[in-house]
Amino acid sequence: MSIFDIFKKIKSGFGDEKETPKDKPITDSYLEQLEELLITSDFGVSVTQRIIEEINSNMGGSVKTIRDAEFVIRKILLSVLESVEKPLYIKGSPFVILVVGINGSGKTTTIGKLASLYQERGKSVLLVAADTFRAAAIEQLQEWAIRNSCDILAPSPKTDPAAVAYDGVHKAIAKNYDIVLVDTAGRLHTQKHLMEEVKKIKRVIGKLGNYPNEVLLVLDSTIGQNALIQAKEFNNALDVSGVVLTKLDSTSKGGIIFAISQDLKIPIRYIGMGEKIDDLKAFVARDFIESLLN
Ligand code: GDP
Repeated sequence: MSIFDIFKKIKSGFGDEKETPKDKPITDSYLEQLEELLITSDFGVSVTQRIIEEINSNMGGSVKTIRDAEFVIRKILLSVLESVEKPLYIKGSPFVILVVGINGSGKTTTIGKLASLYQERGKSVLLVAADTFRAAAIEQLQEWAIRNSCDILAPSPKTDPAAVAYDGVHKAIAKNYDIVLVDTAGRLHTQKHLMEEVKKIKRVIGKLGNYPNEVLLVLDSTIGQNALIQAKEFNNALDVSGVVLTKLDSTSKGGIIFAISQDLKIPIRYIGMGEKIDDLKAFVARDFIESLLN
């Protein structure tokens, strides 16, 4: 299941037919199924209510057919995303991106994909392995550095994460790197300690200048509403400036992208649509909605 499959259901008008005539009148049953789908796909109560109420109150009037209902859905979803839309604008060098998130969210993969994306744009990239708690995390990042042929600061395990991050940013300033991607720990079971550790990293690299330029939170969309809870915790501790939503290619809970925009008011910078290196897309609300509803 992907976010496209959710929208395939919407576009089919919940009918059995392969090709639903778009001028078919909508019914109460259509509305019930739409509401159920939006709720179970984690669009959130507020976005779901906006859509259902607008269709309901105009049913028989300006909203008669499936085409009309789709028009309402498109309009509301676009306004939700566009109200917080802000692409990541890379300005100044080095541009330091502190990448945070829970283990398994796709943090390391996202860093690897971002490095590739920025290198394609001609930027020099330094990876910094500040998740020093797990040797595997350092190794995984090293693999991405090899794959991208980019430089990495990889300490021996158990080195102080804040010291590693500091050295990384210091090196980037001295050697004129364009972009620094700092990987951080994401152990869920010691969440309080984790937040303190990442807060310290943020504080310490701030001693070198106006860094980090971006606190980028990686969220796994397959966990639906829990992603929203995680996001609030990270935001309270770290003032998150942008979000990457991963695994939209493999979840029945992809509506979370709208709930996050609506509730969190933090721009979504990138979306992960697969495991391959070029499966990370810069997020553009209008293009995204068109890809879902066309
Ligand atoms: P980390 O623990 O947060 O660093 O997570 P990883 O980067 O190791 O990713 C965890 C798993 O999610 C890996 O198997 C990745 O290949 C996978 N993954 C990451 N992003 C995506 C995505 O956008 N789509 C899919 N389908 N899988 C992803």
